[in-house]
Amino acid sequence: MIRFGPAGNCDRFYAEGYKASEQAPAWIAAQGLDAYEYAAGHGVTIREAAARKIGDAANAAGVAVSIHAPYYINCGNPEKAESSVNYLLRSAQAVSWMGGSRVIFHPGSPGDRPRGEALRVALDTIAAARAKLDAEGFHDVFLCPETMGRPSQLGTLDEVLLICQSVERTLPTVDFAHLHAAACGGMQGPADFEAVIRRMLDALDPERAHHFHAHFSRIAYTAKGERCHMTFADAGYGPEFSHLAPVLVRYGLEPTIICESRGTQADDAGTMKRIYREACAQGSPDGRA
Ligand SMILES: [Zn+2]
Repeated sequence: MIRFGPAGNCDRFYAEGYKASEQAPAWIAAQGLDAYEYAAGHGVTIREAAARKIGDAANAAGVAVSIHAPYYINCGNPEKAESSVNYLLRSAQAVSWMGGSRVIFHPGSPGDRPRGEALRVALDTIAAARAKLDAEGFHDVFLCPETMGRPSQLGTLDEVLLICQSVERTLPTVDFAHLHAAACGGMQGPADFEAVIRRMLDALDPERAHHFHAHFSRIAYTAKGERCHMTFADAGYGPEFSHLAPVLVRYGLEPTIICESRGTQADDAGTMKRIYREACAQGSPDGRA
C-alpha cells in the first residue's frame, strides 16, 4: 500500500504539547497518515528501550517507521568507509527496534576524488554494509540510498539506481525536491516525473520499483543546487505533488512518501494524500478511487 507521513516531528506536534517521539505514531495516525521517518541525521543516539516504545506505538497505530541515517556518512571516501558501515549498522539496529525496515542514507561525496572512483568506493562500502547487516541478523532491513540535491554530491538518479542494481536488498529513496534542485528546477511537469519513474522501472525489478521510498517537499535552490526545504505554503517554489500523483496512479505504484517540509511536514503529507486520492478518483475508468 502507498503510505504518507512526516520526516521527524513537526511544529504542530510540539505546539499541541507532545514531547516524546514515542507519542508520534499515534499522533500521525490521528492525522490520517501512516508513515514516520525517525530523524537520526545528527547521530543514532536512541537507546533500545526508547526505540522499542516507538516500535510498539507504531505497531499499534499502523504506522510504518523508517530511519534517516546520519548525514556524515560518506560511502565514497575510503577513509570513512568503515565508520560509514558502522553508522549504517547502528541505524539498522535502531530501526529494527522500532519495528521498521528502511534505512535512508546519503551516499556521500567525491571530495577530491574523480567521481567514477568515488562511486566505485561507494558501491564497495554499501556492499560491505549489506554484508555486515546480514552478519548481524538484519536480513529484512533495506538500505535506501537517496538522490541528492547538489550535483557535487554522489546521488544522481542514475547513481542511486546503479547502487540498487549492484547491492541486494536496497531500495531507491527518490527525493523529488532534490532532483528538482540538482537540475535547477528540473521537475517542471508530469512528463518530468514520468521520466524518473520510467527510468526506475527500467532499472529495477518490479517488486522494488513499485515499493520505492520517496521524499517530497518544495525546495529553494541556487546554481549549485539545493539551498533549503520549503513548505507547501511557500508559493513560487516547486516541485508540485499534483504532477507526481497521476503518474503514481497510472503505474500502480505503492511508495512510502515522506514529507520533508520545514515545520509543516505532517500537514503537507496530509495534503499529498488528499491530492493522491483525487488523482485515484480521476484515474479510474468509473471515476471511483
Ligand atoms: Zn536525506
